[in-house]
Amino acid sequence: MEENKYICPKCGTEMIAVYEKPALNLTCPKCGCKIATTKWEDIDLDDTDYEVVLKPSINLSMEQIKFISHLTGLNFIASKNLFENGGILLKARAVELKEKMNSLVANGIDFSVTPDFPY
Ligand SMILES: [Zn+2]
Repeated sequence: MEENKYICPKCGTEMIAVYEKPALNLTCPKCGCKIATTKWEDIDLDDTDYEVVLKPSINLSMEQIKFISHLTGLNFIASKNLFENGGILLKARAVELKEKMNSLVANGIDFSVTPDFPY
């Protein structure tokens, strides 16, 4: 990832950038001029709808089915069918998906994401 340089608007000195998510605070080491901006990471700007696809599985625990049911809002039987046949579990934007992926992994659920999830 390339580093941007920030130039002080008052004296032209290169400013020191301190990134405190999501704010980027710039301070000029020469004249003390301060600027706060908002900086977004790539993942925040990604508006791709990613699809989480379940891989077909027949060895499921009750907890896994309940977890899927909770995640999708499907009832128990529909969740179990989705699990056994595989299929699209959910669609989400990158930021939301990242959180959900963590809980899927934590529950030992086998899935793939399309398109490739780069984060
Ligand atoms: Zn300055």
